[in-house]
Amino acid sequence: MPKNNLDSTNDNQSFIDLHLHTTASDGTFSPNQVVKIALELKLKAIAITDHDTVGGIKEALEVAENEPIEVIPGIEFSTEINSVSIHIVGLFVDYHNKELLKLTHEIQNAREIRAKKIIEKINSLDIGPKIDFNDVKNIASGFIGRPHIAEVMIAKGIILTIDEAFEKYLNRGKPAYIPRYKLTPIEAVSFLNNIGAIPILAHPCHISEKIELERLIQELKEAGLVGLEIYYPAHSHEDIDKLQALAKKYDLLESGGSDCHGEINNGTMIGCVAIPYSVLTNIKKRLKQK
Ligand SMILES: [Zn+2]
Ligand SMILES: [Zn+2]
Repeated sequence: MPKNNLDSTNDNQSFIDLHLHTTASDGTFSPNQVVKIALELKLKAIAITDHDTVGGIKEALEVAENEPIEVIPGIEFSTEINSVSIHIVGLFVDYHNKELLKLTHEIQNAREIRAKKIIEKINSLDIGPKIDFNDVKNIASGFIGRPHIAEVMIAKGIILTIDEAFEKYLNRGKPAYIPRYKLTPIEAVSFLNNIGAIPILAHPCHISEKIELERLIQELKEAGLVGLEIYYPAHSHEDIDKLQALAKKYDLLESGGSDCHGEINNGTMIGCVAIPYSVLTNIKKRLKQK
Protein backbone atom coordinates (compact mmCIF):
# COMPACT_ATOMS: atom_id res chain seq x y z
CA MET A 1 0.00 0.00 0.00
CA PRO A 2 1.38 3.43 -0.82
CA LYS A 3 2.54 5.56 2.04
CA ASN A 4 0.38 8.49 2.90
CA ASN A 5 0.26 11.00 5.66
CA LEU A 6 -3.24 10.14 6.78
CA ASP A 7 -2.05 7.40 9.13
CA SER A 8 -0.96 9.89 11.71
CA THR A 9 -4.08 12.03 11.55
CA ASN A 10 -7.16 11.95 13.68
CA ASP A 11 -9.52 9.10 12.76
CA ASN A 12 -12.52 11.27 13.48
CA GLN A 13 -11.63 13.59 10.65
CA SER A 14 -12.70 12.88 7.10
CA PHE A 15 -10.34 13.55 4.24
CA ILE A 16 -10.78 14.09 0.53
CA ASP A 17 -8.71 14.33 -2.66
CA LEU A 18 -10.13 16.54 -5.40
CA HIS A 19 -7.51 16.09 -8.13
CA LEU A 20 -6.87 12.60 -9.52
CA HIS A 21 -5.92 11.14 -12.88
CA THR A 22 -6.74 7.71 -14.29
CA THR A 23 -5.88 5.65 -17.35
CA ALA A 24 -8.56 7.68 -19.16
CA SER A 25 -5.83 10.32 -19.54
CA ASP A 26 -2.20 9.88 -18.50
CA GLY A 27 -2.61 8.12 -15.15
CA THR A 28 -1.49 4.54 -14.58
CA PHE A 29 -4.36 3.50 -12.26
CA SER A 30 -7.69 2.59 -13.83
CA PRO A 31 -10.73 4.44 -12.45
CA ASN A 32 -11.59 1.19 -10.63
CA GLN A 33 -8.15 1.12 -8.96
CA VAL A 34 -8.33 4.78 -7.98
CA VAL A 35 -11.64 4.23 -6.18
CA LYS A 36 -10.39 1.04 -4.49
CA ILE A 37 -7.23 2.76 -3.22
CA ALA A 38 -9.21 5.75 -1.98
CA LEU A 39 -11.54 3.36 -0.15
CA GLU A 40 -8.58 1.62 1.50
CA LEU A 41 -7.32 5.02 2.58
CA LYS A 42 -10.79 5.75 3.96
CA LEU A 43 -11.09 8.93 1.95
CA LYS A 44 -14.64 10.27 2.05
CA ALA A 45 -14.61 11.91 -1.36
CA ILE A 46 -12.46 11.97 -4.48
CA ALA A 47 -12.71 13.84 -7.76
CA ILE A 48 -11.70 12.23 -11.04
CA THR A 49 -10.08 15.05 -13.01
CA ASP A 50 -8.49 13.59 -16.13
CA HIS A 51 -6.81 15.84 -18.70
CA ASP A 52 -9.35 17.05 -21.25
CA THR A 53 -11.58 13.99 -20.89
CA VAL A 54 -14.44 12.66 -18.77
CA GLY A 55 -13.83 9.12 -20.03
CA GLY A 56 -12.97 7.67 -16.60
CA ILE A 57 -15.92 8.98 -14.65
CA LYS A 58 -18.61 6.41 -15.42
CA GLU A 59 -16.44 3.51 -14.26
CA ALA A 60 -15.41 5.33 -11.08
CA LEU A 61 -19.03 6.13 -10.21
CA GLU A 62 -20.07 2.52 -10.80
CA VAL A 63 -17.31 1.16 -8.56
CA ALA A 64 -18.17 3.68 -5.84
CA GLU A 65 -21.86 2.83 -5.83
CA ASN A 66 -22.91 1.52 -2.38
CA GLU A 67 -19.43 2.25 -1.02
CA PRO A 68 -18.72 4.84 1.67
CA ILE A 69 -17.10 7.28 -0.73
CA GLU A 70 -18.31 10.10 -2.94
CA VAL A 71 -16.94 10.33 -6.47
CA ILE A 72 -17.14 13.82 -7.92
CA PRO A 73 -17.09 14.01 -11.71
CA GLY A 74 -14.38 16.41 -12.84
CA ILE A 75 -11.97 17.34 -15.59
CA GLU A 76 -8.67 19.21 -15.93
CA PHE A 77 -8.40 21.46 -18.97
CA SER A 78 -4.93 22.20 -20.35
CA THR A 79 -5.07 25.82 -21.40
CA GLU A 80 -2.53 28.32 -22.64
CA ILE A 81 -2.03 32.05 -22.63
CA ASN A 82 1.04 33.78 -24.17
CA SER A 83 2.59 30.30 -24.55
CA VAL A 84 2.29 29.71 -20.78
CA SER A 85 0.49 26.56 -19.73
CA ILE A 86 -2.31 26.96 -17.17
CA HIS A 87 -4.51 24.15 -15.89
CA ILE A 88 -8.14 24.63 -14.95
CA VAL A 89 -9.90 21.94 -12.93
CA GLY A 90 -13.67 21.63 -13.18
CA LEU A 91 -15.59 19.91 -10.39
CA PHE A 92 -19.17 18.62 -10.50
CA VAL A 93 -19.20 18.49 -14.27
CA ASP A 94 -22.18 16.92 -15.97
CA TYR A 95 -20.21 14.30 -17.85
CA HIS A 96 -23.12 13.65 -20.21
CA ASN A 97 -23.29 17.30 -21.25
CA LYS A 98 -23.24 17.44 -25.06
CA GLU A 99 -21.23 20.66 -25.23
CA LEU A 100 -18.63 19.18 -22.91
CA LEU A 101 -18.36 15.97 -24.90
CA LYS A 102 -18.06 17.97 -28.11
CA LEU A 103 -15.27 20.07 -26.64
CA THR A 104 -13.28 17.14 -25.24
CA HIS A 105 -13.65 15.35 -28.56
CA GLU A 106 -12.34 18.42 -30.37
CA ILE A 107 -9.36 18.73 -28.05
CA GLN A 108 -8.46 15.07 -28.43
CA ASN A 109 -8.71 15.24 -32.17
CA ALA A 110 -6.91 18.55 -32.37
CA ARG A 111 -3.53 17.05 -33.21
CA GLU A 112 -4.96 15.08 -36.09
CA ILE A 113 -7.02 18.00 -37.31
CA ARG A 114 -3.96 20.25 -37.12
CA ALA A 115 -1.86 17.77 -39.09
CA LYS A 116 -4.57 17.55 -41.76
CA LYS A 117 -4.72 21.34 -42.06
CA ILE A 118 -0.93 21.59 -42.37
CA ILE A 119 -0.94 18.93 -45.10
CA GLU A 120 -3.70 20.80 -46.95
CA LYS A 121 -1.60 23.95 -46.85
CA ILE A 122 1.52 22.18 -48.06
CA ASN A 123 -0.42 20.59 -50.91
CA SER A 124 -1.88 23.96 -51.87
CA LEU A 125 1.63 25.44 -52.13
CA ASP A 126 2.40 23.32 -55.19
CA ILE A 127 5.97 22.59 -54.15
CA GLY A 128 6.11 18.95 -55.19
CA PRO A 129 4.18 15.68 -55.06
CA LYS A 130 1.03 15.76 -52.94
CA ILE A 131 1.23 14.46 -49.38
CA ASP A 132 -1.36 12.05 -48.08
CA PHE A 133 -2.54 12.19 -44.47
CA ASN A 134 -2.37 8.40 -44.22
CA ASP A 135 1.34 8.42 -45.11
CA VAL A 136 1.92 10.71 -42.15
CA LYS A 137 -0.33 8.71 -39.86
CA ASN A 138 1.47 5.48 -40.77
CA ILE A 139 4.86 6.73 -39.63
CA ALA A 140 3.55 8.30 -36.40
CA SER A 141 3.20 5.78 -33.61
CA GLY A 142 0.57 7.57 -31.54
CA PHE A 143 0.56 11.36 -31.43
CA ILE A 144 0.89 12.94 -34.87
CA GLY A 145 3.25 15.90 -34.99
CA ARG A 146 4.94 18.19 -37.46
CA PRO A 147 8.18 16.11 -37.59
CA HIS A 148 6.16 13.26 -39.11
CA ILE A 149 4.90 15.57 -41.83
CA ALA A 150 8.49 16.69 -42.43
CA GLU A 151 9.60 13.06 -42.79
CA VAL A 152 6.99 12.45 -45.49
CA MET A 153 8.10 15.66 -47.23
CA ILE A 154 11.65 14.27 -47.29
CA ALA A 155 10.43 10.90 -48.62
CA LYS A 156 8.60 12.73 -51.42
CA GLY A 157 11.70 14.72 -52.28
CA ILE A 158 10.11 18.07 -51.42
CA ILE A 159 12.85 19.02 -48.98
CA LEU A 160 16.11 17.49 -47.77
CA THR A 161 16.02 17.76 -43.99
CA ILE A 162 13.52 18.11 -41.16
CA ASP A 163 15.07 21.49 -40.28
CA GLU A 164 14.48 22.70 -43.80
CA ALA A 165 10.82 21.68 -43.56
CA PHE A 166 10.42 23.71 -40.38
CA GLU A 167 12.41 26.70 -41.57
CA LYS A 168 10.69 26.98 -44.93
CA TYR A 169 7.15 25.79 -44.20
CA LEU A 170 6.20 24.57 -40.74
CA ASN A 171 7.41 27.15 -38.23
CA ARG A 172 5.26 29.98 -36.93
CA GLY A 173 5.05 32.67 -39.61
CA LYS A 174 5.81 30.21 -42.43
CA PRO A 175 3.28 29.34 -45.17
CA ALA A 176 2.11 25.98 -43.77
CA TYR A 177 1.97 27.00 -40.11
CA ILE A 178 -1.23 26.21 -38.23
CA PRO A 179 -1.46 27.19 -34.57
CA ARG A 180 -2.06 24.55 -31.95
CA TYR A 181 -5.61 24.33 -30.70
CA LYS A 182 -5.67 25.33 -27.03
CA LEU A 183 -8.33 26.88 -24.89
CA THR A 184 -7.38 30.01 -23.01
CA PRO A 185 -7.85 29.81 -19.23
CA ILE A 186 -10.68 32.35 -19.49
CA GLU A 187 -12.45 30.20 -22.08
CA ALA A 188 -12.11 27.11 -19.86
CA VAL A 189 -13.44 28.94 -16.79
CA SER A 190 -16.38 30.43 -18.71
CA PHE A 191 -17.15 27.09 -20.32
CA LEU A 192 -17.22 25.29 -16.98
CA ASN A 193 -19.42 27.99 -15.51
CA ASN A 194 -21.83 27.77 -18.41
CA ILE A 195 -22.31 24.04 -17.92
CA GLY A 196 -22.90 24.52 -14.19
CA ALA A 197 -19.55 23.16 -12.98
CA ILE A 198 -17.13 24.64 -10.43
CA PRO A 199 -13.98 26.07 -12.09
CA ILE A 200 -10.79 25.97 -10.04
CA LEU A 201 -7.32 27.27 -10.88
CA ALA A 202 -5.09 24.20 -10.57
CA HIS A 203 -1.70 24.26 -8.80
CA PRO A 204 -1.35 28.06 -8.98
CA CYS A 205 2.22 27.97 -7.69
CA HIS A 206 3.30 25.89 -10.68
CA ILE A 207 2.40 28.56 -13.19
CA SER A 208 5.33 30.19 -14.95
CA GLU A 209 6.58 33.40 -13.38
CA LYS A 210 6.02 35.03 -16.77
CA ILE A 211 2.41 35.32 -15.62
CA GLU A 212 1.55 37.60 -12.73
CA LEU A 213 -0.53 35.30 -10.53
CA GLU A 214 -2.70 37.92 -8.87
CA ARG A 215 -3.60 39.52 -12.19
CA LEU A 216 -4.47 36.11 -13.64
CA ILE A 217 -6.67 35.38 -10.62
CA GLN A 218 -8.43 38.74 -11.04
CA GLU A 219 -9.11 38.07 -14.72
CA LEU A 220 -10.31 34.53 -14.09
CA LYS A 221 -12.51 35.69 -11.23
CA GLU A 222 -14.23 38.06 -13.65
CA ALA A 223 -14.78 35.09 -15.97
CA GLY A 224 -16.37 33.13 -13.11
CA LEU A 225 -13.53 31.37 -11.29
CA VAL A 226 -14.81 29.83 -8.07
CA GLY A 227 -11.78 28.31 -6.38
CA LEU A 228 -8.03 28.01 -6.01
CA GLU A 229 -6.20 24.72 -5.57
CA ILE A 230 -4.48 25.63 -2.35
CA TYR A 231 -3.68 22.19 -0.91
CA TYR A 232 -1.24 20.55 -3.29
CA PRO A 233 1.81 18.32 -2.71
CA ALA A 234 4.36 20.81 -4.03
CA HIS A 235 2.92 23.84 -2.25
CA SER A 236 5.02 25.07 0.68
CA HIS A 237 3.55 26.62 3.82
CA GLU A 238 4.39 30.02 2.34
CA ASP A 239 2.59 29.12 -0.88
CA ILE A 240 -0.45 28.06 1.10
CA ASP A 241 -0.44 31.28 3.14
CA LYS A 242 -0.10 33.36 -0.01
CA LEU A 243 -2.91 31.50 -1.79
CA GLN A 244 -5.21 31.65 1.22
CA ALA A 245 -4.75 35.42 1.32
CA LEU A 246 -5.55 35.66 -2.40
CA ALA A 247 -8.59 33.41 -1.97
CA LYS A 248 -9.85 35.67 0.81
CA LYS A 249 -9.17 38.84 -1.16
CA TYR A 250 -11.03 37.63 -4.25
CA ASP A 251 -13.75 35.65 -2.47
CA LEU A 252 -12.58 32.31 -3.86
CA LEU A 253 -13.04 28.89 -2.30
CA GLU A 254 -10.24 26.56 -1.30
CA SER A 255 -9.71 23.27 -3.09
CA GLY A 256 -6.94 20.74 -3.22
CA GLY A 257 -5.73 17.34 -4.26
CA SER A 258 -2.75 15.09 -4.81
CA ASP A 259 -2.75 15.26 -8.64
CA CYS A 260 -1.84 11.57 -8.45
CA HIS A 261 -1.03 10.05 -11.84
CA GLY A 262 -0.55 6.54 -10.46
CA GLU A 263 2.67 4.69 -9.94
CA ILE A 264 5.01 6.92 -11.86
CA ASN A 265 8.46 8.10 -10.88
CA ASN A 266 8.42 10.82 -8.25
CA GLY A 267 4.67 10.98 -8.56
CA THR A 268 2.42 11.85 -5.67
CA MET A 269 0.04 9.29 -4.21
CA ILE A 270 -3.72 9.47 -3.73
CA GLY A 271 -4.56 11.15 -0.43
CA CYS A 272 -1.00 12.36 0.21
CA VAL A 273 -2.26 15.81 1.17
CA ALA A 274 -4.60 15.84 4.18
CA ILE A 275 -7.55 17.90 2.98
CA PRO A 276 -10.50 18.13 5.37
CA TYR A 277 -14.00 17.34 4.17
CA SER A 278 -15.09 20.89 5.07
CA VAL A 279 -13.36 22.06 1.86
CA LEU A 280 -15.88 20.03 -0.11
CA THR A 281 -18.79 21.18 2.06
CA ASN A 282 -18.00 24.78 1.09
CA ILE A 283 -17.79 23.88 -2.59
CA LYS A 284 -21.15 22.12 -2.39
CA LYS A 285 -22.71 25.20 -0.77
CA ARG A 286 -21.49 27.30 -3.68
CA LEU A 287 -22.80 24.73 -6.15
CA LYS A 288 -26.30 25.12 -4.70
CA GLN A 289 -26.17 28.87 -5.29
CA LYS A 290 -25.51 28.34 -9.01
ZN1 LIG B 1 -2.28 20.09 -13.89
ZN1 LIG C 1 -3.60 17.08 -12.82
